[in-house]
Amino acid sequence: MDKSCQANHETHRMKVDFFRHALTSSDATAISQVLDTPFLTSGNLGKSVEVQLASFFGTEEALLVNSWTNGCVATLLALDIGPGDEVIVPAMTFIATANCAEIIGATPVFCDVSPQTLLLEATAIAELVSPKTRAVIPVHLYGRMCDIPELRATLDAMGRPDISIIEDAAHCFEGMRDNARPGCHSDAAIFSFYATKNVTCGEGGAIVTNNRNLAERLRATRLHGMSASAIDRFKTGQYRHWDMERLGIKANLPDILAALLPSQIREIQQKLPVREAIAQRYITAFAGSGLRIPGGVSTCLDARHLFCLHVPPEQRDTALNKLSAAGVGCTVNYRAVPGTRYYSRRYPSAADACPVSRRWGAGTLSIPFFPGMNDNEIDFVIDAVLEHVAPLCAKRHDPPLGTPL
Ligand SMILES: *Cc1c(COP(=O)(O)O)cnc(C)c1O
Repeated sequence: MDKSCQANHETHRMKVDFFRHALTSSDATAISQVLDTPFLTSGNLGKSVEVQLASFFGTEEALLVNSWTNGCVATLLALDIGPGDEVIVPAMTFIATANCAEIIGATPVFCDVSPQTLLLEATAIAELVSPKTRAVIPVHLYGRMCDIPELRATLDAMGRPDISIIEDAAHCFEGMRDNARPGCHSDAAIFSFYATKNVTCGEGGAIVTNNRNLAERLRATRLHGMSASAIDRFKTGQYRHWDMERLGIKANLPDILAALLPSQIREIQQKLPVREAIAQRYITAFAGSGLRIPGGVSTCLDARHLFCLHVPPEQRDTALNKLSAAGVGCTVNYRAVPGTRYYSRRYPSAADACPVSRRWGAGTLSIPFFPGMNDNEIDFVIDAVLEHVAPLCAKRHDPPLGTPL
């Protein structure tokens, strides 16, 4: 048979989804072991995963939660942040980061990101600090970490050691900056185990912290505010009364889902070189094409969660349509949060105050990027981007990221 003909035929039918998870039916064994115990919700298995997480991150405590979002709401409640308080968040992030402040009645204050790295920087945050500021939520966007020690030092030097730093580490489970993992230098770092994240159990998350006092309050706020969890209430065989001291939400992770985590946490470091190799193939292939890619941070070990490109904003829909038609899954991570309908109604001047986020958010698109991609799939994505997207950027003269849109 003519091999080139076969290859052509294959290429023609090929399709690469935006994401493919790596869980298999063998993971069902871990779930069925939970079904063999009397405890389906948060029990001993979850506690063992918390020990594993604290050891991975080198933190005093780790708490499983049922999503990043609920973990962050629980953390803000545990810190007694609420109406009248301000929480500084980046404008370039997923909406959940800002929503948490909004949900508890605090005011999200949008900070623009660096045009080089798309990360929050201490100097920009410092300009937005007011007497009402209670917390900052820096986002380790796409897997590169913000400089947390510098932010802490800047806030302390302003006489504001009281401002909490809560890291949004939804993109950065396995990343580091100056050899420190999320949670080392902040009040807390929060992870997401949502379906497409580097570590996933469908829906879930975790909070790590070195503050035992905060962890103690979080154990209550992630469980309605109750003073003792179900497993602890029944531990001795004798009923133990509980009380409610502070308002909480329902944010605990059931053992049925936690069962999917231990093997992934054990293997996550081995997957990072695979992610890095795919990223490097993309970077090499797209060099000189007019596509813009966020700059690296030399002191970071990049967790490589997403691979995002930037095209001239007026060409983005064409690029998305052409890639989809070619069989390449693509999406947008993210449009700038203050430009969404809800936030632009509520905080009308916020979008204009964050031109870098606006410009990046108007022109970015994400292409398939996951460790299970095979060589054919990687080449297929590269060819499709070079054929359909690069020409849209060939003679681009849209202004640099910092200019107003
Ligand atoms: C996914 C994500 C979240 C929300 O995570 P959930 O677990 O779905 O609540 C928050 N922040 C960022 C940056 C994310 O990518």
